Amino acid sequence: MSDSVTGLLTAAPVAGAAYLVAALLFILSLAGLSNHETSRSGLTYGISGMAIALAATVWLSYDQGPREARTLSIVLLTTAVLIGAGIGVWRARVVEMTGMPQLIALLHSFVGAAAVLVAWNGHLDESQLTGSLLAIHHAEVFVGAFIGAVTFTGSIVAFLKLSGRIKSSPLMLPGKNILNVGALAAFAALTVWYVIEPQLWLLVTLTALALALGWHLVAAIGGGDMPVVVSMLNSYSGWAAAATGFLLDNDLLIVTGALVGSSGAYLSYVMCRAMNRSFLSVITGGFGLEAPVAGSGAEDGEHREVTAAETADLLRSAASVAIVPGYGMAVAQAQYPVADLTAKLRDRGVDVTFGIHPVAGRLPGHMNVLLAEAKVPYDIVLEMDEINDDLSGTSVVLVIGANDTVNPAAEDPGSPIAGMPVLRVWEADNVVVLKRSMASGYAGVQNPLLFRENTAMLFGDAKERVEDILRHL
Ligand code: NDP
Repeated sequence: MSDSVTGLLTAAPVAGAAYLVAALLFILSLAGLSNHETSRSGLTYGISGMAIALAATVWLSYDQGPREARTLSIVLLTTAVLIGAGIGVWRARVVEMTGMPQLIALLHSFVGAAAVLVAWNGHLDESQLTGSLLAIHHAEVFVGAFIGAVTFTGSIVAFLKLSGRIKSSPLMLPGKNILNVGALAAFAALTVWYVIEPQLWLLVTLTALALALGWHLVAAIGGGDMPVVVSMLNSYSGWAAAATGFLLDNDLLIVTGALVGSSGAYLSYVMCRAMNRSFLSVITGGFGLEAPVAGSGAEDGEHREVTAAETADLLRSAASVAIVPGYGMAVAQAQYPVADLTAKLRDRGVDVTFGIHPVAGRLPGHMNVLLAEAKVPYDIVLEMDEINDDLSGTSVVLVIGANDTVNPAAEDPGSPIAGMPVLRVWEADNVVVLKRSMASGYAGVQNPLLFRENTAMLFGDAKERVEDILRHL
C-alpha cells in the first residue's frame, strides 16, 4: 500500500468516523427499543454499533503508543474483552427473567467502578497537561470519581435489595436529608480545593464520601420505589461513562454516556409520574419523606379461603373477569395456564380483560412480555388507568401473584406506599387472590385486601392453582 493511502488510513480519523456511525446506531437502537414491535431491530442496531465501536477502539489503541508496547496492549485488551464477553454470555444465558433487575443493578456497579478507576488513573497520569487544561482535568477527575463511586455503591445496595439479600424497607437515619445535602456541599467544596491543590488525600476523602453517599441514597428508598431507583442508577451509570469519556478523551463514550444518562433520567421521570412520586425526592434518596408510621397499613383479621373447584364455579357464573398478574405469576411461570384459562373463559362468552400495573413484576413491562410470550391477545391487556374505573362493575377479579400493586394501604397517608396508584380490585363483586401465604409483597407492607369480605384466598403455587381451576372448569 502506498504511503499516501496508509497515511489516510491512520486509525484516528477512521475511528472517529466509526464512532460517529456507532453513535447513530445507538440512537436508532434506543428508538427501536421504545416499541415492542421494533425492539428486535433496536437490539440489532445496538449490537452492530457496539461491534463497530469495539473494533475501532482496538484498532485505535493498536495504532497509538510505542511500537514494542503495541502487541502487549492488544493481547491484554483482547484477553480482557474475551473474559468479559464469556462471563456476560454465561450470565445472560442462565439468568431467570425474574433475576434481570438485580443483574442490571450489578452491571451498573461495574460502570461505576470503572469510572472511579479511570478517575484515579487520571490523577496519577497528568504529565502532558499544563495551565487551564490541567485545572479542567482535575475537575474531570473529581467529578468522574464522585459519580462513579455513587453509582458503584448505590448499584450494590440495589442489587442486594432486589435479590432479597437485604430488607427492601427504607433506611431512615436521623437527619438523613441533612446528611445528603451535607455530602453534596462537601463535594462542591472539595472539588474547588482539589482543582487548586490536587492532593491525593483529597481524592481519597472524596471517593470515601461518594461511596457512603451512594449507599445511603439507595438504602433510604423503600421497596415500592425501587423501580424508579433502577432506572435512576441506569441514568447515573450513563453519566459516569460520560465522565470517563472526558477523562479518556473518547468522544463515543461521552455521546453514549449522555444517551444512557438522559434516557435513564427520562424513564425515571416517567415512572415517578406513574407512581405519583416526586422525581427530585427519589433521586435525592427520598429527600423530604418522613418515616412511615409504625404498623401503618397493617390490618389483621380473618381471611377466607376457597378451593380451585369453588373458584371455577365462580368463574363459570361470571359475566366479566379481570385478571391482575404480578411478580408471583412470573416466579411460578403461570402465564401459559393463565393464557389457556383466558381462552377457555372467552370461548364460554365471558368478557376477560387483564389489568397491568406500571410496576408489576420486577421490570418495566415485565407482565406484558410474559403475556405476549403466552400469546394472550394484546387488545385485552389494559393499562391500570384504562381498567381501574371499570373494576367496580366486574364480576370476578383474579389476582395472580400480585400484592403491592393491589394494596389498598396505598390510600392510607401513613403507609410507606402512600400515594402510589394501585389497581382498585376490591371494588369488584368478588376477588380471588392466588398466592402461597399471607406474606406481604416486595414493599414489605401488609395488604388489607386479603382480609376484605369480598376477597377469598386460593393458596399455593400460582401455576398449579391455575391448572387446578382449568381442570374444574
Ligand atoms: P409483589 O412483589 O408485591 O408481590 C408478589 C406476590 O407474589 C408475593 O406477595 C408472593 O406471596 C407471591 N408469590 C411469589 N411466588 C409465588 C408463586 N410461585 N405462586 C404464587 N404466588 C407467588 O408483586 P407486584 O407485582 O404486585 O408488585 C411489584 C413490586 O415490586 C412493587 O412493590 C414494585 O415497586 C417492586 N419493583 C418493581 C420493579 C419493576 O420495574 N416492575 C422493579 C423493582 C421493584 P407469597 O410469598 O405469599 O406467595
